[in-house]
Amino acid sequence: MDTGLHKEVFRVLFTESTNDIFIFSEQNWEIAEFNENFSNSFKYDRYENKKLTLWELIKDFGELHPIIQFVKSGAPTVYLKDVIVLDRHGLRFTLDLQITRLSLENPVFLCKMIYNSDKKETLRLNYEYISNISHELRGPLTNINGTLDILQKNKQGNLDSESLSLFGVIQKNLTRMKVLLDNLLLLDIKKKKYTPEVYNPFASINEAIAFFEPSILEKNLLVNKDIDCSVLLRGDKFEFSQILHNLLSNAIKYTNIGEIKISVFKHSEKIVRMEISDTGVGIPEEFNSSVFNRFFRVSSSVGGVGLGLWIVKELVERMEGTIQMYSTFGVGTTFILDFPLVGYAS
Ligand code: ADP
Repeated sequence: MDTGLHKEVFRVLFTESTNDIFIFSEQNWEIAEFNENFSNSFKYDRYENKKLTLWELIKDFGELHPIIQFVKSGAPTVYLKDVIVLDRHGLRFTLDLQITRLSLENPVFLCKMIYNSDKKETLRLNYEYISNISHELRGPLTNINGTLDILQKNKQGNLDSESLSLFGVIQKNLTRMKVLLDNLLLLDIKKKKYTPEVYNPFASINEAIAFFEPSILEKNLLVNKDIDCSVLLRGDKFEFSQILHNLLSNAIKYTNIGEIKISVFKHSEKIVRMEISDTGVGIPEEFNSSVFNRFFRVSSSVGGVGLGLWIVKELVERMEGTIQMYSTFGVGTTFILDFPLVGYAS
């Protein structure tokens, strides 16, 4: 896009500015350019093909938004205070915007993002901080889990039914904490190194089901398994179990009666399909396109933070797979995951 700026002015603005800067056009509200600082703060890749628009970046962007009002007014510049801007993953930041019309002929605008120092620091620390805390908390949690296992094994047979059920409660809560912490650790997933290997998903699925056993038993749910043990997948094994953990924990959390079905089969010469379905509360149709958004929740009546499905989608895509969801409100939900078939177990 012709920004109407001299090459040298453009270079100084973009490569040497310490601010987050982007240039947008009134045409389709497309973001034509952004600099490295913007890319780092908002997690958008400059070399990605997908076009970014103000609709994605600015919360409640619409006819009444001060940016649109300014553009329509024909004024040369504006300073907008406390605008809510969303990063690639939907995390919100409130900051000031200084917008300048670049030329009289082109409807093109330069936008400088101004943080007070606290806000900028918060933005930088957000992911790092959460990830560090999760890491710290995981240590003691693993420890408690291990100790509990030993205690339970030593006491098996000597425990009355009340103590047994208390053990179950502790285990169930530890499970919830582990899934949550693992999700928080994956918050800055783009920074995490991806180390794929070829593996058979069978063992991971069995482990995941065993992991949730206390919650499955408590709710009296049936688990129906139909796994083709011969197919091999390629990916990071820990990440694959996190996919399972998130989908199973939702299936259990949002199902009160009935069953959870998990199947893995060869769908075509090149595709392994995994389906996880439940007979739970389902998701109203209007939310179908939002469930994979970060921090999205249908309702806050059941605990959760809205990270699980977003992480699942990111992890599936790292495995070069796809995920779809089919749900009928009040009847149940099915997640269909397709992965490249990389071979067969010998
Ligand atoms: P949460 O931590 O809220 O469960 P998720 O990202 O895992 O976050 O899920 C997003 C939302 O999608 C949930 O709040 C819930 O409303 C809905 N959802 C996810 N899985 C299911 C399911 N199996 N059945 C019904 N609703 C679901």
